[in-house]
Amino acid sequence: MLHSEIVAPYIFKYGSDEQKSRWLPKMATGELIGAIAMTEPGTGSDLQAIKTTCIKDGDNYILNGQKVFITNGYMCDLVVVVVKTDPEQGASGTSLVVVEAGMEGFTKGRKLKKVGLKAQDTSELFFENVIIPKENLLGQEGMGFAYLMSELVQERLLIAMGAVSACERILHHTIEYVKNREAFGRPISKFQNTRFKLAELATETKIGRTFVDDCLTKHMKKELDVTTAAMAKLWTTDLQVKLVDECLQLHGGYGYMLEYPVAKAFVDSRIQKIYGGTNEIMKELISRSFL
Ligand SMILES: Cc1cc2nc3c(=O)[nH]c(=O)nc-3n(C[C@H](O)[C@H](O)[C@H](O)COP(=O)(O)OP(=O)(O)OC[C@H]3O[C@@H](n4cnc5c(N)ncnc54)[C@H](O)[C@@H]3O)c2cc1C
Repeated sequence: MLHSEIVAPYIFKYGSDEQKSRWLPKMATGELIGAIAMTEPGTGSDLQAIKTTCIKDGDNYILNGQKVFITNGYMCDLVVVVVKTDPEQGASGTSLVVVEAGMEGFTKGRKLKKVGLKAQDTSELFFENVIIPKENLLGQEGMGFAYLMSELVQERLLIAMGAVSACERILHHTIEYVKNREAFGRPISKFQNTRFKLAELATETKIGRTFVDDCLTKHMKKELDVTTAAMAKLWTTDLQVKLVDECLQLHGGYGYMLEYPVAKAFVDSRIQKIYGGTNEIMKELISRSFL
């Protein structure tokens, strides 16, 4: 998802014809794996406070800094890096550059050990005097922040879509489980607590699906705004984390065993409230639309 629906669109929308023909065909075949690096050890939520610099030097830029928690960071062949081309400026000093694996001074750190999402790599990236040819600047200098704000709408919608799909899948598994597991001589699906809990979760999942489908329709018409995308990300990921916890409870001890889908969903879901902008930042964005 990150490779094809988040990184490739940056190149597709803001790249020159030369950049598109250089990278997109190989990204489509899987010969090149993409990543995007915004977060730094010192800042994640406050993107304007990034410290990685990329300073003009003749026909090139010189890149210095460090990024952390980068999905695909370990196996990426190219990474869209958020940099300060003018460190004196805030948002208007921010640009995007494409760093390619093998460039001198670009090193990848260790694969970080995570609570969940074990199949996906998350790494640190280091840049020490990396020479970035001006041909690797993505879009216009100083426009990086505006590009990010625009593209984060799709990223948050994707997270919301994943959240609702996970809710539907885990509900399905849990309904099957409670029909088959017995306690006190009857299936646990016959207990009022089980029935009411699943009724509430199924209702909320339906609300989430309806909301996300509406967002998707708006997005296809290019009408999905920052506030609504933030609402979708906030509400559906809060629901996902609550739902997998409640469903795990209905599985009893088996819910804590990783061979059950609900256990894997439990460890994988927690990050949904954090990446793509934390849910507290989503509340900030939403409240800014009316306060
Ligand atoms: C598995 C994983 C994959 C990731 N993938 C990527 C990636 O591919 N690329 C990338 O660039 N980043 C990635 N990230 C980083 C992720 O986007 C950040 O972790 C996230 O944005 C939060 O930043 P932070 O960790 O610095 O937390 P902080 O910004 O330090 O926040 C700490 C706490 O303070 C709260 N807080 C901060 N500011 C406010 C405020 N104004 N009001 C209220 N509360 C506030 C936050 O909500 C949070 O609860 C990934 C992270 C993880 C764990």
